Amino acid sequence: MANKHNELRLGYVTQLYYDCCDQAVPKQLDLLAEWFPDLLIKEEENPDNRKTEAEYIDTEYMIHAVRYNGSLYAGGSKRISQITGRLTGTAKGNQEKERKTAVLIQKHLARLMVDDMDVLLDLRDNVTGHLDRLTEEQLSSFDESVFDFIMELAEGRAAKSAYEIDSEPFPMDDEAFDMIVYNAGYQLSLGDRLGLINAYLWLLLGGLLRNEAARPARIFDSSFAPAYRQVSETPDLRSKLHFLFFPEQYESVYYGDDFESRFPDIIWKCDSCGDELNRQEGFDDHLPVWQCRKCGYLNEISADQIYDSDEDYGNGIHTTDEKELKKAVERRKKELGK
Ligand SMILES: [Zn+2]
Repeated sequence: MANKHNELRLGYVTQLYYDCCDQAVPKQLDLLAEWFPDLLIKEEENPDNRKTEAEYIDTEYMIHAVRYNGSLYAGGSKRISQITGRLTGTAKGNQEKERKTAVLIQKHLARLMVDDMDVLLDLRDNVTGHLDRLTEEQLSSFDESVFDFIMELAEGRAAKSAYEIDSEPFPMDDEAFDMIVYNAGYQLSLGDRLGLINAYLWLLLGGLLRNEAARPARIFDSSFAPAYRQVSETPDLRSKLHFLFFPEQYESVYYGDDFESRFPDIIWKCDSCGDELNRQEGFDDHLPVWQCRKCGYLNEISADQIYDSDEDYGNGIHTTDEKELKKAVERRKKELGK
């Protein structure tokens, strides 16, 4: 049975942050306002410091609330507590109540993010602001707990039966779940502050929007949050994450039958015009450089120029080692009896 606290729900994702700064997780309205400012809650003026019960306006997809003594005031509204409970995912009780409303909110937010890139960029700035408040020590413990959380999400998912997954209040398709969690892992594996910020942003989005998070993820995967390489031994998410974080534990494997090339099965593209160099007359990858026959650009032909994906190219990540590749080709030759 999976640990319930390692589910991709907003309440658990945000708890990682508060645990690292020894703070209590805020009440649900405050929590939603803090991580998704202006998107879910419209704060009304309250000059007389009155306790006005919060209200959800369906057609606006917005909760209207006043601030009372520093906190957003929910009042006795069952509807508000049920909606916010569904969205944060940590509330017990009747899980079906207001689930439909929460689904509509998720769809609405995903649409906003797809329609306007600034929505996501503002959310990222908001995450950045939160991380700025951490000390170096808190930040490194936060980084570790985000890593653990990602790994546990993958473990927890694998431990569940299809029925358990399908009968969750907001069931997530495997494809969407893997995309979001791998996306977060990929960002984190970049090892810098921006990577951590992006990783956490994807967890927040997955936690709040669940299946709907796949929509903005598909739009943004090649822009500010490059993601979703499929390099691993098996398509299982745990295997993909393991490869991502511990590439040194894998030996290169070559499955092809090209024993002539220095870099078998690598497609070379001109860095200037994008033309496929392999198809150009006389191309030989044993040469140190190749002048593009189309535009004249001099392209270096070396392992340093090989990227597994466009995302890796954008992030300057190389995983190809010429020596390792040679060994892999030799192993393949033996396997084929050549
Ligand atoms: Zn060219």
